[in-house]
Amino acid sequence: MSIQPLGQIEEVQKEAEAWSPQRVLTWAFEKFGGSVAISSAFGAEGMVLIDMASRVRKDFRLFTIDTEYLFPETYNLMDRIEEKYGISIEKVYSLLSPETQEFTHGAELWTRDPDLCCRLRKVEPLRRKLQELSAWITSIRRDQTSARSSAHRIEWDAKFGLVKVNPIVDWTSKQVWRYIHEHDVPYNELHNQDFPSIGCTHCTRAVKPGEDSRAGRWPGFAKTECGLHIIERAQTSDAKAAKLGN
Ligand code: SF4
Repeated sequence: MSIQPLGQIEEVQKEAEAWSPQRVLTWAFEKFGGSVAISSAFGAEGMVLIDMASRVRKDFRLFTIDTEYLFPETYNLMDRIEEKYGISIEKVYSLLSPETQEFTHGAELWTRDPDLCCRLRKVEPLRRKLQELSAWITSIRRDQTSARSSAHRIEWDAKFGLVKVNPIVDWTSKQVWRYIHEHDVPYNELHNQDFPSIGCTHCTRAVKPGEDSRAGRWPGFAKTECGLHIIERAQTSDAKAAKLGN
């Protein structure tokens, strides 16, 4: 399958809304080859995507932003993923070690300015990683946050200047968990301890009965996103054409 010459992402975007997640993944791998990679923090949705990808292509690329503040359970899951799927996870780090960050910005930056902390430990490393890619694949779902509600299966990511592929964007949490159980997909043990969404140790807590699934992220702050999936639409057609290989 090929995107039309001078392909405008809007065209394939409309078509792709009717595609299955597997077809979206196939399209992405065929279109972008080694310059597309899955980005994951290994939540339940990410695990579904990794499992699906492994059934489409054995040597798919997978990277993660390792803030160096992750839970032991998350690091353990990374080991299990590498063993089960026979891949090597590309780990991307902040330019600042935790020690340098503390020296430069003071102790426990996440308690005072979590936006800055996320920018240093997540957004900047992601921006650096995405510069080497033409497309990235994520496991965001529209009903996770308001910022994700208008996401498409395939879209132009103006914030980072490449194609963004979201194969399970219209899935529900129920579908995610059904897939995990039906396909015996490994998942983070913290999900069994009331952590529906898992990030850094400093900014994630278990949710209480009746709370929103992302209530455990950045408790005490109005923040719901680390800044990786905020959508910016405007971008020049030249930048699009360059990444689409037109
Ligand atoms: S989630 Fe918290 S600790 Fe992790 S990078 Fe963001 S503010 Fe820092």
